[in-house]
Amino acid sequence: MLLGDTTGLYEGDLRRLTKVIRAVITFFGLLLLAVIAFAGWSANQTATDRERTLLENALNQSIANVLDGQKSVAWWDDAVLKITDESIDLEFTDANFGIFLTETYGHDEVYILDGQDKPIYAYTDAQRTEPGIFEKRRGDVSPVINEARLSKISNLKERPDEFGQAQTNYRILAGAVQRARWAGHIISVAGRPAVVTAITIVPNVDMSVLTGTPKLLVSVIYIDENFVSKIARSLLLSRLTLTPEPVHASGVLSQPFIGDDNVQLGYLSWVGRRPGHVLITIILPLVACGVFATGFLSNNMFRRLRRASDELTQREAKARHASRHDALSGLPNRQHMVDEVEARLSAADLGVRGLRAIAAYVDIDRFKDINDTLGHEAGDKLIKSVAKRLTARLRSDDFLARFGGDEFAVLCLSTDPEADQLLAQRIASAFEEPFALDGQILQVTASVGISMAPEHGRSADELLRHADIALYEAKNLGRNRAVSFSAEMAQQVETRRSIEVDLRTAIEREELAVHYQPIISCRTGAIVGAEALLRWNHPTRGPISPGTFIPIAETSGLMASLGTWMIERAMRDAKQWPQLEIAVNLSPVQFSQTDLEAVLRRLTAEHGVAPKRFVLEITEGVLLEATEHTKSVLNAIQAMGFRTALDDFGTGYSSLAYLCNFKFDKIKIDRSFVTNVSNALTSRTIVQSVVSLGRGLGMQIVAEGVETEYEALMMSHFGCTELQGYYFSKPVEASQLGPLIEQFEPRHMAPIGEPAMLPSPESATA
Ligand code: C2E
Ligand code: CA
Ligand code: CA
Repeated sequence: MLLGDTTGLYEGDLRRLTKVIRAVITFFGLLLLAVIAFAGWSANQTATDRERTLLENALNQSIANVLDGQKSVAWWDDAVLKITDESIDLEFTDANFGIFLTETYGHDEVYILDGQDKPIYAYTDAQRTEPGIFEKRRGDVSPVINEARLSKISNLKERPDEFGQAQTNYRILAGAVQRARWAGHIISVAGRPAVVTAITIVPNVDMSVLTGTPKLLVSVIYIDENFVSKIARSLLLSRLTLTPEPVHASGVLSQPFIGDDNVQLGYLSWVGRRPGHVLITIILPLVACGVFATGFLSNNMFRRLRRASDELTQREAKARHASRHDALSGLPNRQHMVDEVEARLSAADLGVRGLRAIAAYVDIDRFKDINDTLGHEAGDKLIKSVAKRLTARLRSDDFLARFGGDEFAVLCLSTDPEADQLLAQRIASAFEEPFALDGQILQVTASVGISMAPEHGRSADELLRHADIALYEAKNLGRNRAVSFSAEMAQQVETRRSIEVDLRTAIEREELAVHYQPIISCRTGAIVGAEALLRWNHPTRGPISPGTFIPIAETSGLMASLGTWMIERAMRDAKQWPQLEIAVNLSPVQFSQTDLEAVLRRLTAEHGVAPKRFVLEITEGVLLEATEHTKSVLNAIQAMGFRTALDDFGTGYSSLAYLCNFKFDKIKIDRSFVTNVSNALTSRTIVQSVVSLGRGLGMQIVAEGVETEYEALMMSHFGCTELQGYYFSKPVEASQLGPLIEQFEPRHMAPIGEPAMLPSPESATA
């Protein structure tokens, strides 16, 4: 759930980021395209506007040019004098007006109107004509005449007075300019576009020659192909044409040509310059391709990025799951459990209304044996089955984890005052039924250590550590049980720890010593051997039993050197009693952590002792780990001449099997059988059968812990070959063993095969 949420979060972030970047790319891409398109369009537009203005200016200029031509003859003293109301000098007028204006300036029609605007002269179609012909034109041109006369309002479109502006430079004509009136427009004349101008005929020098209203010179120039091409040339406009209909062709600009009288005169068309053309037709598509490609590529990239990130988050989630789970059982692992305990403890109101957190360590008993005898696959199957059963038995909100190996842990929160016992029961119920492994039915037990918060501490660390201590205690007490943590256990652990620390320096400080306990022959009743036993006189704690410190030495890695030291001592001391056989105890650790064979070889050589004088005592613990290595070491030891004894016989649970598997020289029957021999029939039977089996295999049988004469006699009677115990002597310092041997009075024991008259236990101890 939690993982899913975070994964979603990362994905959401990326998706949002992708969207934003995509939107930014789209926005700026479109913006760029719009800018380019606009730049192209506006460059074209500007060019078109400019061409339009130029054209307009050219038309205005052409009107001014017509007026200029008129002015050259109309503003002239002679013209005023030669053309009067009374008479008109036709020869003069033809030469200077009709012919001159049409031929020099290309006017198509020239008229002169008198003061009342009646035609008095007309020159059309390259010849002087009847002035009355003007009446055909009057309708079209009268607005221009009216404007020139200023008498009547004209409704023609206004044009800039290019002509008027050019007149300010004249000094000679200044008088004329003041008196003169003019007008020029483009209008429709007889349905054709034409430039129509009118200008008053006034004197240019002697103003007095003018009397009355001045005559008016009117010119018409039709705007034809010739006219248009002249303008095109002057403007460098390509293919300017005037057509009745608009021209539809690529690159051609066609615009209505409207006369000043608002009559549509056709269409002016030209091939416009389009500076934005490259931008629009080449750059814009290229950039559009670029933008599209960028969008496409980035989209692709984002998709790949998303896929990669999805994969990454998936892998991360998997890795995270793997790092927090045990691969075999699928349960949470130790780290996960620790985190969970921390989280639950800090979230819970421990102690409020009896709320407690209960941690349990569960350890499968003798899992190693199962692994060794049935194989690792079976071991794995067992782990999986246990995980399954525990999961099924526990409540749904209990937290179950596997700590590796055969260890499980449970955490639960409860207000039930009996919750710890309930949890223990639930765990025990998982082991009630036997397990079926590879066709074998196996009864499996487990040891459980339980601790509680807040009673045993409030931190996760304390809770788990205390559960571990309780588990250790449960195993010590014989396994297959649940033990709750107590303060004394913690004390014991503390003691163990300090003993371990002190033990490390005990050899150098010479706090360790070897004591020897005599071993008596049943046949002769004399001391024939001695067992070397470690002694530690702690400076503050006093004597510490090897039963206490040897297990500590074994678990803390100190046993290997301690064992070697012990063998060396025994060999050195043994030289004092050449007649004795010396027994030395070996720890399982000495098989696994030292090259025992080499150590023994070296020490026998160093001290010049015969191996056959030494009996190496091994407990079942060594044989439990009877690997090929252990077996080969045992064989090598025997081959070197050392003798071997199986110690504490009868305390393990398949001792008889070991007897057949490995040929020991001696068996030492555990003290518990010897002590019980007086009152328990089963002990007697066992001792008797062991003795007969052992002797049948050619072994010597030693009875340990003989404390009474009765026990001595009984064990001897049953067929033991040697006896050892407080009845004869406690272990003594090496220096005292010599005197002890000297003073020792052989005690008569019943000869083998001829059981002595057995006294009753009461008379023997009395
Ligand atoms: P163990 O090998 O079975 O040694 C015999 C133990 O029985 C010794 O205890 C001895 O003092 C005690 N004992 C002997 N006779 C009697 C008796 O009549 N009555 C009673 N109640 N006890 C008797 P100890 O010395 O305390 O040693 C305990 C165990 O510590 C040994 O048991 C042995 O397993 C281990 N141990 C002692 N020394 C060494 C050693 O050097 N190396 C190793 N690996 N283990 C050692
Ligand atoms: Ca022993
Ligand atoms: Ca023993």
